[in-house]
Amino acid sequence: MATQKKKRTRMKRDQRRAHWKVEIPEVSSCPSCGASVQPYHVCTACGQYKGRQVLKLATEATAK
Ligand SMILES: [Zn+2]
Repeated sequence: MATQKKKRTRMKRDQRRAHWKVEIPEVSSCPSCGASVQPYHVCTACGQYKGRQVLKLATEATAK
């Protein structure tokens, strides 16, 4: 197995980690119910995606 010959300095380690960031996910609003949803994801509030009902919600399943 490859073994490193010298310990990396704190500066080099921190330079590498300078790009580590927490990204805030993009958020758009659902066209049918207006809740905030991630793009290209099913709306968790109403269960619709691209105008189609994709998920069966617990409240609708009990009504039927
Ligand atoms: Zn929705």
